[in-house]
Amino acid sequence: MAKYVIITGGVVSSLGKGIATASIGFLLKTHGFSVNPLKFDPYINVDPGTMNPYQHGEVFVTEDGAETDLDLGHYERFLDTNLSKENNVTAGQVYLSVIEKEREGIFLGGTIQVVPHITNEIKERVRKVANEHDVVLVEIGGTVGDIESLPFLEAMRQLRLEEGRENVLYIHLTLVPFIKSANEFKTKPTQHSVNELRRIGIQPDIILCRTERPLPKEAKDKIALFCNVSKEAVIEGIDTENIYKIPLIFKEQKLDWLICQYLSLKTKETGLKIWQAWLDFVNKLENPEREIKIAIVGKYTSLRDAYKSVIEAVNHACGHLSLKPNIKWIEATDLEEEVKRKGKEILKDYFSDVCGIIVPGGFGFRGIEGKIFAIEYARKNNLPFLGLCVGLQCAVIEFSRNVLGLKEANSQEFDLNTKYPVIHLLESQKGIKKKGGTMRLGAYPCLLKEDTIAFRAYQAKRIYERHRHRYEVNNEYIELLEKKGMVVSGIYEKENLVEIIELKDHPFFVATQFHPEFKSRPLRPHPLFLAFVKACVSEF
Ligand code: GLN
Repeated sequence: MAKYVIITGGVVSSLGKGIATASIGFLLKTHGFSVNPLKFDPYINVDPGTMNPYQHGEVFVTEDGAETDLDLGHYERFLDTNLSKENNVTAGQVYLSVIEKEREGIFLGGTIQVVPHITNEIKERVRKVANEHDVVLVEIGGTVGDIESLPFLEAMRQLRLEEGRENVLYIHLTLVPFIKSANEFKTKPTQHSVNELRRIGIQPDIILCRTERPLPKEAKDKIALFCNVSKEAVIEGIDTENIYKIPLIFKEQKLDWLICQYLSLKTKETGLKIWQAWLDFVNKLENPEREIKIAIVGKYTSLRDAYKSVIEAVNHACGHLSLKPNIKWIEATDLEEEVKRKGKEILKDYFSDVCGIIVPGGFGFRGIEGKIFAIEYARKNNLPFLGLCVGLQCAVIEFSRNVLGLKEANSQEFDLNTKYPVIHLLESQKGIKKKGGTMRLGAYPCLLKEDTIAFRAYQAKRIYERHRHRYEVNNEYIELLEKKGMVVSGIYEKENLVEIIELKDHPFFVATQFHPEFKSRPLRPHPLFLAFVKACVSEF
């Protein structure tokens, strides 16, 4: 029988509930437990796939092609496991399924209500992921007090009633601000937030306090007293630049043992290798031999969350090589405007101090020309380049325009009537009208060509990588592209789709139609990111 750990957040959003959940999961894993996380998102969208990155940050894609919350990325990275569509449930999905059941007549005769119909559906989703796991971690998105999250909290209250006290644990993450003028920590927001939870019938067992600086004992004791938890159950979550240190911070305060004790969980294994490997990785991150500067040219650069997995994949590769990444963010639209005003000479002002360029994924026309200028610079100056999804598409457009001389080459996404549609709509996308969940999504096999950079990086013939796009390279141009030095180094055999391209006469110019960043893990950095970073320091 599974145990359930429910994680809620209070006071403000963006406290790092996802990372806290992932860290707890990792700690439980080091005790030998199998852990399955579930993220509830209280919005009405069926999935985040239809949201703008500014609304939502990155959309994380699972192996089975679900478009999910970026917290699933944290879970996969910390737990080193592949999750699926069952691990992220939105209010939209819950309501949709209840309404569909109502239409089918499953509840015939009844009035359909939030309690019990919606709450039952929520509990069903929780129990579904329990399946043979020791612990289910349930993270409730949003902040306690939001109207939207009420049915989820109510369902979690019922869960303890049904599963038994010893099987369900509530952890509440709050903010404990330090007020400089008073030179004091303030526990009042935490007290209010816990009161709000109690009003709904949930008494938290453990309180995680996000804080800028170490919490004095008095503040902790006060929180324990006013929030009705034992003193050792007030855990400090101090700000840290290195998210991979958070499990260490929690373990120091014995959070893992506390959870085991509260849930009567008996450690299955101790001294597991993953703990030591994790410590080694954190140690490498903390003590880099030197720094390297990498440019990321994107169009949502003011919101770093939009590139979460890309950033982490760079961190993993750099950490592994004892390097400290310094990311230079370049907004593609700014670059585009400046080059158009001042000419291509200004590109060196942007890139002469970096040792590599990444062009990550994106949708729509805005900023495309800026990305293409950056790619041209990388190609001509032998600067290592890694293109991801739209990054590959831009690389093909750049090469077609500037090497093949097809000046009007473009993607049909950016110019429907382009004379040279070197990137065009996937066959399977033609006729698709509904926008939600209809892209080419999830993992597909890719066959690598030997004697290529890609093959050298992966050291494998067949790989599986995750996709999220509607457009692809137009095969009619491949012969021309290859004649001039572009190499198609990976394909999806079944439908003959281009998956990886690279350049022959360049130290490292590689672009993928898929998103390798989703599969990078702290202890298993992604081979392409590793190869790219090595190329940045001339070691590939
Ligand atoms: N916009 C492009 C497409 O749909 C690329 C998408 C992406 O970069 N994820 O094909």
